[in-house]
Amino acid sequence: MGLLSQGSPLDWEQTKKHADHVRKHGILQFLNIYNKVKDRQKDVLKWGDEVEFMLAEMDDKNEKVQLVLNGKDVLETLQEKGENINPNHPTLWRPEYGSYMIEGTPGQPYGGTMSEFNTVEDNMGKRRREASSVLNKDETLLTITSFPRLGCPGFTKPEYKPTPVEKGVSKSLFFPDEAINSHPRFSTLTRNIRHRRGEKVVINVQIFKDKNTPSPFVEVFPEDDGEAARAALPNHIYMDAMGFGMGNCCLQVTFQACSINEARYLYDQLATFCPIVMALSAASPFYRGYVSDNDCRWGVISASVDDRTREERGLEPLKNNKFRIHKSRYDSIDSYLSCCGEKYNDIELTKDEDIYKQLLDAGIDKLLAQHIAHLFIRDPLSLFQEKIHLDDDNESDHFENIQSTNWQTMRFKPPPPNSDIGWRVEFRPMEVQLTDFENSAYVVFIVLLTRVILSYKLDFLIPLSKVDENMKVAQKRNALREGMFYFRKDVFKGCNPVLDPPSTALNGVESEVNDGEEFTLMSIDTIVNGKEGVFQGLIPMLNCYLENMEVDVDTRCTILNYLKLIKKRASGELMTMAKWMREFVAKHPEYKQDSVITDKINYDLLRKCDRIAKGEEKCPELIGDPVNRGK
Ligand code: GLU
Ligand code: MG
Repeated sequence: MGLLSQGSPLDWEQTKKHADHVRKHGILQFLNIYNKVKDRQKDVLKWGDEVEFMLAEMDDKNEKVQLVLNGKDVLETLQEKGENINPNHPTLWRPEYGSYMIEGTPGQPYGGTMSEFNTVEDNMGKRRREASSVLNKDETLLTITSFPRLGCPGFTKPEYKPTPVEKGVSKSLFFPDEAINSHPRFSTLTRNIRHRRGEKVVINVQIFKDKNTPSPFVEVFPEDDGEAARAALPNHIYMDAMGFGMGNCCLQVTFQACSINEARYLYDQLATFCPIVMALSAASPFYRGYVSDNDCRWGVISASVDDRTREERGLEPLKNNKFRIHKSRYDSIDSYLSCCGEKYNDIELTKDEDIYKQLLDAGIDKLLAQHIAHLFIRDPLSLFQEKIHLDDDNESDHFENIQSTNWQTMRFKPPPPNSDIGWRVEFRPMEVQLTDFENSAYVVFIVLLTRVILSYKLDFLIPLSKVDENMKVAQKRNALREGMFYFRKDVFKGCNPVLDPPSTALNGVESEVNDGEEFTLMSIDTIVNGKEGVFQGLIPMLNCYLENMEVDVDTRCTILNYLKLIKKRASGELMTMAKWMREFVAKHPEYKQDSVITDKINYDLLRKCDRIAKGEEKCPELIGDPVNRGK
């Protein structure tokens, strides 16, 4: 989850004093990087995935699953056995927000050849086996997006009581501070978000009303000092800590583009897919022991790190703050970056005008300048005493500080200073899937999509306000089957993204955006599989691309298997993880149609998940019957 510095973290009052310093030097650091590498061309395609894991203990005797808070030890062991002794080790391990989480990536990025697609699943399998091999007996590694009983009494091992009234980090009624990674970055972020906001974060997720769910559904919290009672909405599952969001797992993909303009083009194009692919990957229906009415984690994380003050949220007139800010730091993107995107930038973009001007004066084009000036309306949230004064020519920590706490659906990543890494974009909305097969399928699907977009110079752009509407629809229960999404009809006919420098292209794009002509509402099935007379479908496009590529038989077979999964998920022939979990719970003998996930239900569900993930049990309704490739 971003930059990890060592040292003494500053509290919010101190951090705030340095906010302008961090922004000022962050911008200088960005400009230094930009000026050095803006003309870099011909970087080759490289890409990599990130899988986040939870560590859990299956207590078969008591039929209970707990999250094990030993991520730090597991991580250290993995690093000692891996990257620390072998620079070519095939896996890399990083900390994540929860002390029950770790994150694994391939040791080296994948390259641009088709045969690399045949190694993804193998590498994910290696990660799973490698990490599993250092766990204690009865412990296991889960790739689930949200732990159904996160925040319920005794959900961790060892068990800890939350400390709402004492000097806690989260001050949560439900989520103990011990479940936060002990690296100071994570607790500092948590505390400073709360302090900056002026109150605890508030997460309200609509509850799924089943036959016996109390109506209205209203909870009473015995340890509440009044804050929860004010914040909790009726008929919602109330949560009050960063851990409820950042303690969830996802699947991300990062691409290195050949140039800055290609990166900007990809950033924009992929942004339109974020809601679609998120709904396709929906895997998080349960929160704090209840069945919710959402299938995806996005809104929960968004609220869990929302550090905006009441003024910034528009609840009070601006007095002490500079900006009215429309979204949380964790949210969908607010502006397109490529020349093709400019005419679709139709949402209000709050930006720091001084920074914007400074960037324009330094020769940065309008679209990039406003993007950076928008990210930089935020304050730094965690700062280390030892890291205040930096060498702006050779370091980028202040830039990264702001950049890496803008957790948007897409991230545009300048190269680190003095590295041979190129301009990159990160695709961030996907929920993590149960098996390596599914995770590989989603990752390969996205990477192939970028190949097709670049090769055929496709244009999927629609107004950003429509992408935002799609984001809302995408998270709802069963959005995959029931949701309708704005999508472009003719993707061959848009702006021709001849990766021109934006400065020349700024005046060149004149055609009017005409509602109802360029885009229309489609189901995910139509978008993915196509529908006569409406849209040709992504999978048919990818198949066409594949037919024209030299691919060895084995790799082709692997890819087709992946695309089959995506195709069948989109058509509803296979379930999403979210739907599958819902059905499991609904049919569970202990389930009382009251939206409650008991320890026993949780245990049976995750036991089954674990067996499926380990290949001990099949799950055709979720995964189909992929040919076992003996990997
Ligand atoms: N776990 C977060 C999510 O589910 C992402 C954290 C990160 O940026 O690595 O979106
Ligand atoms: Mg991560």
